[in-house]
Amino acid sequence: MKITFLGTGTSQGIPVIGSDHPVCLSKDPKDNRLRVSVLVEWDEYSYVVDCGPDFRQQMLRAGVSHIDGILFTHEHADHTMGLDDIRPFFFRQGDIPIYAHERVLGELKQRFPYIFVNGKDKYPGAPGVQSFEVINNRPISLGKLKVVPIDVMHNRLQVFGYRFGDFAYLTDVKTINEREIRKLAGIKVLVVNALRMEPHPSHLNLEEALELIARIAPERAYLTHISHLLGFHEEVEKKLPEGVFLAYDDLQIEV
Ligand SMILES: [Zn+2]
Repeated sequence: MKITFLGTGTSQGIPVIGSDHPVCLSKDPKDNRLRVSVLVEWDEYSYVVDCGPDFRQQMLRAGVSHIDGILFTHEHADHTMGLDDIRPFFFRQGDIPIYAHERVLGELKQRFPYIFVNGKDKYPGAPGVQSFEVINNRPISLGKLKVVPIDVMHNRLQVFGYRFGDFAYLTDVKTINEREIRKLAGIKVLVVNALRMEPHPSHLNLEEALELIARIAPERAYLTHISHLLGFHEEVEKKLPEGVFLAYDDLQIEV
């Protein structure tokens, strides 16, 4: 399985528009972060997790010409606002499968009603999707792989993480209960959000992310959904425990 980090930044991305914070002005390309998303590829399949406002740029940068579907974690703008840009995939492939909690599908229908129109009323040129509801405790069959939804909380908002075999992707987590942690037993690689050093009501900070990684005990862990307030990539990475890394845009890993 190959994982490509399409974006590793928090909701505003890094640099933040108009910011003169030193991390926003950094010349290190690892300090430039688009909004969070990953491309997960195995056998002949390619799935994207989330479809934020940088989706177009991310598909171009990673050279993606075919996707088998999009799994959504939740409805926040930094995870959904690129949905219109599935058009090139739709024109070549037809309706693009999307997987999300029922609530998130409802939100997408409100924001992008024209995408969900079928038949002769559909605007020519509008993209189309095939919607699949993600239900906790019901693995999603993608080819031969059973993807396990992981139910976590982003302050008071429910969010899905996903386990793909030995790899799990959790973003926008603040809390996770023991039953969901058990679903992650034995994973080799975990991706989890770590926003900044200071606590935040709806995101893990670095210390909390490291505690969660220690509880889950994967072989390796990568941190994502990073704010400029976390600091320079190079400096933060030096302080991390063994087996824990800061993800950065364009990073590819094999699991
Ligand atoms: Zn987010």
